[in-house]
Amino acid sequence: MDFNIALIPGDGIGPEIIEEAVKVLDKVAGKFGHNFNYTKLLLGGASIDVNGVPLTEETIEKAKASDAVLMGSIGGDAKSSPWYKLEPSKRPEAGLLGIRKALNLFANLRPAVLYKELSKACPLKEELTEGGFDILIMRELTGGLYFGERRTYEENGLRTAYDSLVYNENEIRRIAIKAFEVAGKRRKKVTSVDKANVLDSSRLWRKVVEEVSRDYPDITVENMLVDNCAMQLVRDPKQFDVILTENMFGDILSDEASMVTGSIGMLASASLNDTSFGLYEPSHGSAPDIAGMNKANPIATILSASMMLRFSLDLTKEADAIDRAVEKVLEEGYRTGDIMSDACTLLGTKEMGDKIADNI
Ligand code: NAD
Repeated sequence: MDFNIALIPGDGIGPEIIEEAVKVLDKVAGKFGHNFNYTKLLLGGASIDVNGVPLTEETIEKAKASDAVLMGSIGGDAKSSPWYKLEPSKRPEAGLLGIRKALNLFANLRPAVLYKELSKACPLKEELTEGGFDILIMRELTGGLYFGERRTYEENGLRTAYDSLVYNENEIRRIAIKAFEVAGKRRKKVTSVDKANVLDSSRLWRKVVEEVSRDYPDITVENMLVDNCAMQLVRDPKQFDVILTENMFGDILSDEASMVTGSIGMLASASLNDTSFGLYEPSHGSAPDIAGMNKANPIATILSASMMLRFSLDLTKEADAIDRAVEKVLEEGYRTGDIMSDACTLLGTKEMGDKIADNI
């Protein structure tokens, strides 16, 4: 089959890791008889350098016309990059928020998986993580505090600021439905995280999630306060299957969960709208400190490509082949610098991409 994939290499290590993901996708295409057509698009700093803005209509329109978008990462070093002399709405990160909104990507899926081969990288005690864990954080991405009205002003001589956290029931319902559907294909448990003891938006969140849960009788649902969830993630991560939460809580909890795995270079992510369309990217940033050095771990991006095949292109066998190839390479002891340990073989970005492609 033919598929049109928009590629956004982005900044820093972005182009290097996207190149390796394309290498693996091309191997999959050859093995399984598909044709992936790629269109390269600019976003973030790369777009500022060419167009003067981090996101253009052209990028939005071409992304919309594709079957899915695969992205590297965007942004630069805030201290030295000229992009950060621009006002916040013109910086690379504004492009990322803008494309999520323009493509209506309201559901962000971030797996936090502890592979048994990498268990030594996990900062938790071994008895808490024996056998590994596999958590999927489902974060609402286009509402809440990051998109609410905000203002800084002076009142009675005091500098004052506010940000507003707003959700309507439709925004909550559509992400809750996604979470229950994904949980149905996993271990059938949803933990909905809120701050319902304080926030009205959380009380509505909890009510709507409970209403949606009635349509999914085979899925266990539990409610957890966000402060407790932050604690439980380091106390007993194995208890979680799908964590469903709003934008800011999800931002913080998904970073915590990824650090608990000990290897940010391994973690993929997907952002979906209400069709099968999605944008896929690693959870990490553009790592300007190692850009262009052939040191970046391409696995998070390669696993993002696997999620793209699974969720947007409905190519399950092909996605499984990528996941298995990654596991095989880890089992054989190959590592990039960020996940290196004793008695393993150190590989660069390109060599890791080659090894994974060879195992498809
Ligand atoms: P970062 O994730 O880029 O880097 C944090 C640390 O992890 C660095 O030491 C880096 O070398 C290392 N690292 C990250 N990815 C790695 C990989 N694949 N292989 C090996 N090591 C890796 O986070 P940061 O330094 O806070 O941010 C750098 C830039 O990335 C900033 O401009 C930030 O805004 C941007 N950023 C972009 C995204 C995105 O594109 N979605 C997400 C987060 C941060």
